[in-house]
Amino acid sequence: MSDGSNGAEHLLEVRNLIKYYPVTAGVLRRKVGDVKAVDGVSFSIEPGETLGLVGESGCGKTTTGRCILQLQEITSGEVMFQGQDLTKMKGEALRCMRRHMQLIFQDPFASLDPRMTAGDIVGEPLRVHDIAQGKRYRQQVLELLSMVELSPTVAGRYPHEFSGGQRQRLGIARALAVRPAFIVCDEPVSALDVSIQAQIITLLMRLRDEFHLTYLFIAHDLAVVRNISDRVAVMYLGKIMEITTSDRLYDEPRHPYTISLLSAVPIPDPVVDRTRERIILKGDVPSPMNPPSGCPFHTRCPHAEEICKSRVPELKPTGPNHWTACHLVEAA
Ligand code: SF4
Repeated sequence: MSDGSNGAEHLLEVRNLIKYYPVTAGVLRRKVGDVKAVDGVSFSIEPGETLGLVGESGCGKTTTGRCILQLQEITSGEVMFQGQDLTKMKGEALRCMRRHMQLIFQDPFASLDPRMTAGDIVGEPLRVHDIAQGKRYRQQVLELLSMVELSPTVAGRYPHEFSGGQRQRLGIARALAVRPAFIVCDEPVSALDVSIQAQIITLLMRLRDEFHLTYLFIAHDLAVVRNISDRVAVMYLGKIMEITTSDRLYDEPRHPYTISLLSAVPIPDPVVDRTRERIILKGDVPSPMNPPSGCPFHTRCPHAEEICKSRVPELKPTGPNHWTACHLVEAA
């Protein structure tokens, strides 16, 4: 195993995923470089598991999710889903496979057609994939609304008549319509109020348990992924810096970047919260078009040494179910 998963049969395995966007300049649009959005990412997810994928904006987590779903062409690598490499599939075969994988968007308002009723939005995948018609279709739409705790009476309403949380429930119901095995939840609560965030996460957890769903849960906030994730991977500049179980990541973080992110997460106990050390990182995240040599974190790392500037640290085992990419963290 290369990523701290428990060794059971994978539902999804991502191997050395690379996604570069070419940068061109001049009248002839000559290629002058690459934006290295995802730069050699590997991990796997077991059936029924939730992997949290966390990092600052622009670290490549959303691109990773989209590349997995083949919504973006990858530069290289493999995306094995149920034992088949999605990157080699095309046309009808890929369309059939996509039915098992869905995406829940960050902004439920932008992702819902304002001219369609809630019932039509939720039922559209049933029609597109020819899953149900007539009475059965109407029945399934009502069932989907009730699965996400919306009243059947809302089926005739339009997206603008719903609150942000209700719109996200519609997005979830729509994703569930095709009974997928795997869902990429791309910052599904980032646009919502904190009180609503908890409700949506609780709903996603209930649906996961009820329908044995597997999630890749993308977020920029470590506090958000804690309860829902079995394991968490922390990304920085297109690479995974640390991946381990949710408990270990919060109790025994090893990577300096993870430690700094966690130091900013509020602790419910005000006494502990007041006394602990907060690590403020210097500078901004460097551009993925011109990432630093060696360890991508070395320009901001409080512990950087000479070796960090020249050698890229490998993601290596540093504890049970725990993998860290840092020269200063001892291998287990
Ligand atoms: Fe910091 Fe060096 Fe470890 Fe990178 S490899 S996180 S720069 S100590």
